[in-house]
Amino acid sequence: MITFTIANILEIIEAGGELPTLAPVIRRLLTLKENVAKSDADLMEIIRNDVALTTRILRTVNSSGQYEAEAVDIDDAVQRLNGTNLRNLLLATKFIDDTDDSPQGTEEHQRIQWLWERSLCCAVAARILAERLKKPDAGLYHSLGLLLDVGILFLLHNFPREYAPVIDRWRQEGGCLTDMEQDLIGVDHTVVGQQIAHSWHLSPKVECVVRHQDLTGEWTCPDIDRGVIYLANLATSVFFENNNVTGIERTLGFAAEHFNIPREDMVNLLQQITLVADSATMKMVVQAGRAVPYIEMLQRINRELGRATLTYEQMVRELEIAMRKAEQLTKRLEETNQKLRDAANIDPLTRVYNRRYFEEFAGWNFNRAVRYGTTLGCLMIDIDHFKHVNDDYGHLTGDRILQGVAETLRAKLRNTDIVARYGGEEFVVLLPETKPHAVALIAEKLNKSISEVEFPTAEGDIQVTVSVGYVAYSAAGMPEVTSPVELIKIADQNMYQAKHNGRNRIWPPMD
Ligand code: GH3
Ligand code: MG
Ligand code: MG
Repeated sequence: MITFTIANILEIIEAGGELPTLAPVIRRLLTLKENVAKSDADLMEIIRNDVALTTRILRTVNSSGQYEAEAVDIDDAVQRLNGTNLRNLLLATKFIDDTDDSPQGTEEHQRIQWLWERSLCCAVAARILAERLKKPDAGLYHSLGLLLDVGILFLLHNFPREYAPVIDRWRQEGGCLTDMEQDLIGVDHTVVGQQIAHSWHLSPKVECVVRHQDLTGEWTCPDIDRGVIYLANLATSVFFENNNVTGIERTLGFAAEHFNIPREDMVNLLQQITLVADSATMKMVVQAGRAVPYIEMLQRINRELGRATLTYEQMVRELEIAMRKAEQLTKRLEETNQKLRDAANIDPLTRVYNRRYFEEFAGWNFNRAVRYGTTLGCLMIDIDHFKHVNDDYGHLTGDRILQGVAETLRAKLRNTDIVARYGGEEFVVLLPETKPHAVALIAEKLNKSISEVEFPTAEGDIQVTVSVGYVAYSAAGMPEVTSPVELIKIADQNMYQAKHNGRNRIWPPMD
């Protein structure tokens, strides 16, 4: 799972992450005939009332770069799509399962559905208010109201673990969501929404409205009345958060003060808004037909999309961009993961592997040696009288020597061998697929190399020696050894023999 950081949020947006819709919406699309006309009223109604579908259309049209001004109004955007089987473009939208055994769990579905209904209500509110206030383009207000919470949908879908508690609290307590978000997760949905609008070319108007929906900040689209959007959002809150009394008062107060709408009129408008929004919701998600199981629906969509001749340049373009960005994102995430893996596997002082990783690696190789009948070499290497080095030159110099010894060992081994720091001044080496005689030769070579190196330190060059115990394991030759731990133990015992016999040598000695 990707961790919740602002950088990761931005990366997902940049990589083209998409928004989900509800299964009944897709079900309704499936009930339309395959080559449904762009002007079809049912089709347009479905798109107009759904955040994911509206976003998809705007993004497709506006990313094509064919038009000077980016479209916001959904009817206008749909007319600009050419050569596209609109229904199929929409069918490719991700959706949330709503069946009881849904893998997403009923809670997530329930939250997304709540948000879906809220967005639709806000769109209806914006449109009705725009009409009442005689704004020239009520359809535009509908789209803007719908997209106002695009950041919430994105966060809820991509980071449910972190973000769902915020939304749950907001639904309970009402109040200022952006303040709550800043407190609890350090980022607010208006910033995320703006970034989405920007990256996905949802138009500068959407960007501005999403970012400054709370009446703060500079308003950069003079042809949109920000008060209408604000009032639509207030009115929506009355129905969707648990703050009814104060919510209604604030809504009526703002309408009166800002637009001179008398209280009784505004109460009527609120009633009208909920009636229209409710019936649209009923039509879209409740009466959307029998609950076709998720898998069956996916199969049907895939079949239909597969059969369709793909003349949809926009869709292909969109896909290409998304895939390229996804590749980059994957690469970066892999690099990060590699760094994390290294941090867990590497000894910070000597930069060779640590004991934990060595034991894991030894496990795989031991199993391979058993299975394929190959020989596996294991060396235990301990620096002689290292305590004296520390005593005479100090601990820091001791550390430098440890680093130097590790570096020398690494330089002398093959890529397939591994060296690890086993303890304080002990290193262990594993030599996969190495014949017994070669294991002894490598032990000898390492012993000699270390004794010849002059390690530069602040106190001048220093030489050290090591004692090396080794063992060459084969399943046939050593049936009594049944685990890598036992193998390491034999190498360790041999290392003590080397110490016992005078240090600076290998054990057993070469023939
Ligand atoms: P022998 O030849 O018997 O191995 O003698 P020795 O002195 O090397 O062995 P001993 O086990 O008595 O002491 C090991 C020393 O290694 C003691 C400890 O201070 C030192 N040492 C262990 N880890 C580190 C480290 O990370 N840095 C430094 N500078 N010294 C370390
Ligand atoms: Mg030692
Ligand atoms: Mg030791």
